[in-house]
Amino acid sequence: MADISRRQFLRGNFSGRQTVLRPPWALAEAAFASVCTRCSDCINACPQHILVLDEEARPTVDFGRGECTFCGKCVEACQPRALQKREGAPPWQLKAQIQNNCLARSNVVCRACGDACPAQAIRFRPALMAAARPEVDESLCTGCGACCSPCPAQAIRLA
Ligand code: SF4
Ligand code: SF4
Ligand code: SF4
Repeated sequence: MADISRRQFLRGNFSGRQTVLRPPWALAEAAFASVCTRCSDCINACPQHILVLDEEARPTVDFGRGECTFCGKCVEACQPRALQKREGAPPWQLKAQIQNNCLARSNVVCRACGDACPAQAIRFRPALMAAARPEVDESLCTGCGACCSPCPAQAIRLA
């Protein structure tokens, strides 16, 4: 295996690309890191309880706890403005990615992710003599994370 840090390994991030998931409408990572005061006000404001502290005591999103409804409460709570709604800017660029351990790829019938998606962005392509496999329509996916925790195989990541 290439020389990767334990943190990268745990995140499945072997390319070294930044993968810490900041709250929606966060500044770019370098600016975010300098502006965020680690006050935790966004964490306390989130009604979905999906914001947690990372190893450096800054907020990160844990989709294992639920989905983002894009309510904007975290942005309103952030006095230093490390989170800022900008005119026309999406909350983030995240899209759902279905990994190879998806049960349907092992021919097990499962539609948990599709049932959970509020945007109906997951479609199942019928297959002859095989379980239908989920496919994400990136043009519809909002990156809300609602499909993550219902997946029994934890096969969906947001990136
Ligand atoms: S937009 Fe709302 S649901 Fe999403 S992280 Fe912020 S407070 Fe939580
Ligand atoms: S409210 Fe803003 S400054 Fe405070 S921890 Fe959250 S992002 Fe950082
Ligand atoms: S992240 Fe949200 S919108 Fe995208 S596929 Fe999953 S549930 Fe649907």
